[in-house]
Amino acid sequence: MLTIKNLHAAVEGTPILRGINLEVKPGEVHAIMGPNGSGKSTLASVLAGREEYEVTEGEVIFKGKDLLELAPEDRAREGVFLAFQYPVEIPGVSSTNFLRTALNQVREYRGQEPLDAVKFLSLMKEKMKLVEIDQKLLSRSLNEGFSGGEKKRNEIFQMAMLEPTLSILDETDSGLDIDALRIVSNGVNKLKSPDTATIVVTHYQRLLEYIVPDYVHVLYKGQIVKSGTKDLALELEAKGYDWIKEEVDAAV
Ligand code: ADP
Ligand code: MG
Ligand code: MG
Repeated sequence: MLTIKNLHAAVEGTPILRGINLEVKPGEVHAIMGPNGSGKSTLASVLAGREEYEVTEGEVIFKGKDLLELAPEDRAREGVFLAFQYPVEIPGVSSTNFLRTALNQVREYRGQEPLDAVKFLSLMKEKMKLVEIDQKLLSRSLNEGFSGGEKKRNEIFQMAMLEPTLSILDETDSGLDIDALRIVSNGVNKLKSPDTATIVVTHYQRLLEYIVPDYVHVLYKGQIVKSGTKDLALELEAKGYDWIKEEVDAAV
């Protein structure tokens, strides 16, 4: 589904990603962990197509297409979901209106009929139940004054509605409380299917107790320096990152 080969990226001329290699197959959940500043959010941003990140080398193939050639909105239409790709606050635009527009754009791109108001509403009800979201939340302006947990809930709901092939969730800087952890993990688990994949960026081992990744990767200085199963996350929880830093730094 997704192949990242020797990906290098820079911000304002400073190299941040220094040769990322990653292969994600349908049905898999990958966790990206690593110390602060290792490049986790940069990787997510590059995949989303944020323009301040310059890809200097390497390639990203998504479902046979060169992802890096696609505009951010086309990546979304191809089925890549990044929560933070969506606007943070649009006063006056309820998330319902926003979502209907977004969903119908995706459907048009996929060659599907747009949903009329009635069908959209019934799909919304179904997905609201699935991710346990309150109707009141949806009639409020998108993300306006949302708490961290409410934002997460809304993100997972957007994900449920858009039915992406690949979801990338960067949780690092959101200060997830226990409710938000539960919301994110329940959502990811319920939306998991043999045809879809998820990349979860986190430094919380705790999140991985709920989500249970198939693979855990440690990012350090812009490279994946170690990969393993969920046991690696447990080891990191127990030992921290210093031993990995020492291993890597000693090898240089
Ligand atoms: P992580 O998510 O692993 O904590 P980031 O990807 O956010 O790491 O950051 C990696 C490095 O890139 C840090 O040194 C950070 O300061 C730098 N960086 C990230 N984004 C920007 C940006 N927009 N402008 C300048 N520096 C950035
Ligand atoms: Mg950070
Ligand atoms: Mg980050």
